Amino acid sequence: MSFAREEIPRVQFAVIGGSSTFSLNFPEDLEREDTEVLRTDLIFDTPFGESPAFKLVRTGDKEFLTCKMHGWRPPAVSRGQASQQLFWVLKEAGVERIYVEGGVGSINPLLELRDLVIPDDYIDHSMRQDVGLGGPYLMIMREPICPTGAEILYRVAKKHLAGTDRHVFKRGTYVNTDGRHFESRAEVQMFRSWHGDFVGQSIAPEVYLAREIGACYTGIYMVVNYAEGIIRDWDHKDLSDIFYGEGKKIGNILLDALKETPAEAVGCNCRALRKETLLQVKNGNR
Ligand SMILES: [Zn+2]
Repeated sequence: MSFAREEIPRVQFAVIGGSSTFSLNFPEDLEREDTEVLRTDLIFDTPFGESPAFKLVRTGDKEFLTCKMHGWRPPAVSRGQASQQLFWVLKEAGVERIYVEGGVGSINPLLELRDLVIPDDYIDHSMRQDVGLGGPYLMIMREPICPTGAEILYRVAKKHLAGTDRHVFKRGTYVNTDGRHFESRAEVQMFRSWHGDFVGQSIAPEVYLAREIGACYTGIYMVVNYAEGIIRDWDHKDLSDIFYGEGKKIGNILLDALKETPAEAVGCNCRALRKETLLQVKNGNR
């Protein structure tokens, strides 16, 4: 089932699901009275192929589009192509604010399993750097993560973890690798020497695509394993317990953060960091 371009609903907000909410039927399983699923199975034609399935959801007075697991649908669709489809739909919808979640491995030995991290920077070690939407923009990555969104996610996550021994961090450098495999010990030591704090596979190219469509982008990530050679060999049972056991907490943090997010962009430069490219050939002026 496919919908024409003009049928993409206009919404200001989007939530990109990752591994923490993958095991959930998000947001239905949260059974929240303030949240209603308006449409399901929304699949759109895009210039990059058929989009992943979206839901249109209302929480409080906010409507948002959401999809599962970064839109990835292996093996038929490459991760880069899935990101292009996903962000093309968000652009057509007019999305201005994006929250995303995912799982990461800890490089910084201060991090514990189940801690939450909100990176303020990243290192892209993936091979997907050419994934774009073709917009005529120079994207400045000086402040890649929206500080307003980060502050809201941090405040909400702190409330949700109150009374536990778990931590939320609002600074840190996310090292992005290609996957699908995890990293080797030698790679993790290299990333540590680069001052990376955690490693995952999703922030790039999403962070570039968000800038390209002029949207604020902020992610909250759960530490699901120690990276290889850090602390001790991680246990597959810990990984699966986190995978299946933490979805509701992350889902509720995302919805509560959305409810607190102002309709107007305040306190950030996200849109100003997208400039017109100087590389286009103008008529008669090479
Ligand atoms: Zn912003």
